[in-house]
Amino acid sequence: MEISEIKKSSFTILGGGRSGIAVAKLLRKSGAKVFLSDGSSIEKLKYIDESILTAAEIEYELGVHSERIFENEVIIKSPGISPENEIIKKAKSLGIKIYSEIEVAYWFCKSPLIAITGTNGKTTTTVLTGEIFKKAGIDVKVCGNVGLAFSEIVSELNEDSVAVLETSSYQLNDIEEFRPVVSVIMNITPDHLDWHRGFENYLDAKLKIFSNQKDEDMAVINFDDEILRKATEKINSKKAYFSIKENLLNAEDQKIETGSFIKNGKVLYFDKAKNIEEEIMETGEINIRGNHNLYNSLASVISARYFEIKKEIIKESLTEFTGVEHRIEFVKEIRGISFYNDSKATNIDSLIVALDSFEGDLILILGGRETGNDYSVIDKTVKEKVKQIIAIGETKDKINKHFKNITKVSNAETMEEAVIMAMSAAKSGDIVLLSPACKSFDMFDSFEHRGSEFKKFVNLLN
Ligand code: ADP
Repeated sequence: MEISEIKKSSFTILGGGRSGIAVAKLLRKSGAKVFLSDGSSIEKLKYIDESILTAAEIEYELGVHSERIFENEVIIKSPGISPENEIIKKAKSLGIKIYSEIEVAYWFCKSPLIAITGTNGKTTTTVLTGEIFKKAGIDVKVCGNVGLAFSEIVSELNEDSVAVLETSSYQLNDIEEFRPVVSVIMNITPDHLDWHRGFENYLDAKLKIFSNQKDEDMAVINFDDEILRKATEKINSKKAYFSIKENLLNAEDQKIETGSFIKNGKVLYFDKAKNIEEEIMETGEINIRGNHNLYNSLASVISARYFEIKKEIIKESLTEFTGVEHRIEFVKEIRGISFYNDSKATNIDSLIVALDSFEGDLILILGGRETGNDYSVIDKTVKEKVKQIIAIGETKDKINKHFKNITKVSNAETMEEAVIMAMSAAKSGDIVLLSPACKSFDMFDSFEHRGSEFKKFVNLLN
């Protein structure tokens, strides 16, 4: 939507979370009429400050959704609200346009935009890409789910800046003009299927990241993800691929113009149109662990090279980047024992990724709140790599029962106890890994809280 049109329009913001408040302010500042509606009461809404809303002349209602929602021309929907929600259905039937916050922020965006999506690895790739751009001296703003909303920073961007945006399928579902210069898709596996009503819808939502790209824009695609490779065959964008399995220069059935892949333990990059074929670094020099992080690194390499950032800068960034907090995050080494915080691992898949990232000699802190985890899928790996499990949380007895014939298992009542137990079980050279494979809400407010508690007790050890 043109700014001149926005001024004359009226918007309902549905949901008063961080991005809802930010987009309300952004629209109001441009002169639009804005009404914010959130069904929760003020006590539950940590981003709402009524005096700020009043000062900005943003009308609002809290604790209720009234019919007033439907009086405006456009609804900006919080990503948490399902497309099946009755309000959304009614709005659609009334012909009201529904957009996500990233769509609106895009209308105001003066800088090139790199958008990153996928089932896993979004945050890491977004933050890492941002770090490389920072090191290159580019005025980069990293936003999306990583803390700042796009609408919060979009006014600070100009033609010389770059925005790196983590985007979810929920947000992509409701775009219209949103057009990144570079769109990255990390992988796709079944996730959030309730919200999207099935895998096809989920895939379609993710693929919308390319829907407005023109042939001069770049799509960065995981070559090793066959579903993605097939699903993106017909998109308009120029394509660049990344792979940790294939030599992309030799991939016969594809005429791949641009890509990054691993060969003989080296990260390679090529761009045939520019006659570039170069070695960026050794994979062993990449600081973040695991194959999953190789993917995240290769995707970042492509975005950085697209903006002609020198390979030396990329290498330096990848050598220094220690990862994002709570994702296989190195905490400390104490008498040869290394501690890692992977509190973000709230399901078995993430635990598998973490276990694959280490050779062995692990003391694993596992457990929390779960429904129906099938631990048998990791029996073999646990047998090979895990010397002891410290079980925590609601599911500790289930874990204990399941693993007691496979490895040593002890139960701990608190995180403090778990850390002390792990320390006394470990010898020099061992790794203590918190990768709970469960939600945190039985003992903590969030996975961030759980990870911070773990780090606090590790830092108290000596
Ligand atoms: P997201 O933002 O998509 O949730 P994160 O970067 O926060 O992704 O990583 C979350 C978890 O997902 C990590 O702890 C790890 O277990 C797993 N993960 C990260 N990157 C990848 C990847 N490229 N492929 C598969 N799993 C990954």
